[in-house]
Amino acid sequence: MAEQKIPVVQEPDPGHAEPMIVAIPYPGQGHINPMMRLCMRLASKGALIRIVVTEEWLSFMTSAQEPPPNVRLLSIPNVIPSELSRAADWVGFVQAVNSTMEEPVDRLIDSIEPMVSVIVADVYMPWVADMAKRRGIPVTWLFPMAATVFSVFYHCEVLLSKGHFPANSSANKEEYVDYIPGVSPTRILELPNLFKGGESREIAESLKFFHQIQNAKSILFNSFYELEPSAIDALSSLVPRPIFPVGPLIPFPAPKDHELKTNARPELDCSSWLDSQPHGSTLYVSLGSVMLVPAKQMEELAHGLIESVTRFIWVAREPSINLRDMCTDRGLVVPWCSQSKVLRHPSVGGFLTHCGWNSTVEGVLTGVPMLTFPIYFDQQTNSKLIVDDWKVGLRVRSGPMDEMEVVDRREIANVVRRLMEGEESKEMRRRIEELREAGEKALEKGGSSDANMNDFLKSLRS
Ligand code: UDP
Repeated sequence: MAEQKIPVVQEPDPGHAEPMIVAIPYPGQGHINPMMRLCMRLASKGALIRIVVTEEWLSFMTSAQEPPPNVRLLSIPNVIPSELSRAADWVGFVQAVNSTMEEPVDRLIDSIEPMVSVIVADVYMPWVADMAKRRGIPVTWLFPMAATVFSVFYHCEVLLSKGHFPANSSANKEEYVDYIPGVSPTRILELPNLFKGGESREIAESLKFFHQIQNAKSILFNSFYELEPSAIDALSSLVPRPIFPVGPLIPFPAPKDHELKTNARPELDCSSWLDSQPHGSTLYVSLGSVMLVPAKQMEELAHGLIESVTRFIWVAREPSINLRDMCTDRGLVVPWCSQSKVLRHPSVGGFLTHCGWNSTVEGVLTGVPMLTFPIYFDQQTNSKLIVDDWKVGLRVRSGPMDEMEVVDRREIANVVRRLMEGEESKEMRRRIEELREAGEKALEKGGSSDANMNDFLKSLRS
């Protein structure tokens, strides 16, 4: 069957005894992807799923198969700025999500039958807690980042009391924080920078975030036990709610799952170019779906890649410089691609990433070692996990992006060569292969994440 737009079907499924789950993803590419994958897994285990997205997001979704009968996509009007331009006014976008979505979602929930057992929502939409409370419906949060990052946020007050937060005012950003349960010593520079500005409003927001957790039914993580055992063990004993690491929430390697494509941008098929490259020769470069990198840094990156003499595929959404002209026939520049497909291609031997959590997990599950180029938020902490904890990558830069601090082309060329060839590179490949296998096993029947998914459903049925 050809790929098709997903129809909106709103009729209830009569007489079904399975739990009714209403999923509310945060309307952004990096949040929609794991929530949709979670929904498809839950649906494959029998749950009734209703997914609430904006009309714009609905129009982006395609599928090669009929959607499973127990899944329905429901839409609300486009009350927020478009996904394709949200980076231009990040604060405005966040404010719109916080102030305009609740009312239409609330109205939509009235039309859902049978009765809703639970709302599964992205933790970055705190208004869901108030709406669900009014309706007497329990909420399970999907935390779309690393369990390690959750532990840092969870201990925000301790960080505050020790003067290690906000990072900007810290005297020594190179100082290590070594008291966060389940988190190995981390430089202040590499803590998540939700803690950046230090305005009291921002601090209050981060604390509010964790009050939501206290009232939740449970918390789902897009991680698996074997990837972050210390953080998950620590959180299991500290958080007063059940936690279920059910990741990796990726479109593979579970081909039995229904795959719903959730790309906001049309993807360019890179297969024929990749087919013509030698095995393991190509570096895949992608800096995510949100932030843009300053022109000067893009230029150094381009020169660095050219000097490194590696082959590369570069996803540049809106390049601030003319990359296509600069890149030689060893480099392909595309506006968007199917990242999961590209990473799985045998010609790809490295991944230069901004360390968004989805990209990090996708890199691990394809066994591709990484060069870390964090930009903001949780990305520098993910970079630290990749390089220091798992030892499956090298840093290009660390800490949140600072426009004044540009990584120079020679440094870039050097680190690219170290990733792509030599003994150090072989060792990273060996280690990431072990993590990849562990991730696959976690999803198999009886694996840690599969068991957690079953336990989560059991908690709804009981
Ligand atoms: N992605 C993609 N094609 C691209 C670039 C990104 O499919 O050309 C996907 C990627 O696979 C990931 C998501 O977009 O699932 C980005 O999420 P992530 O958490 O890595 O970063 P964010 O964009 O949220 O910063």
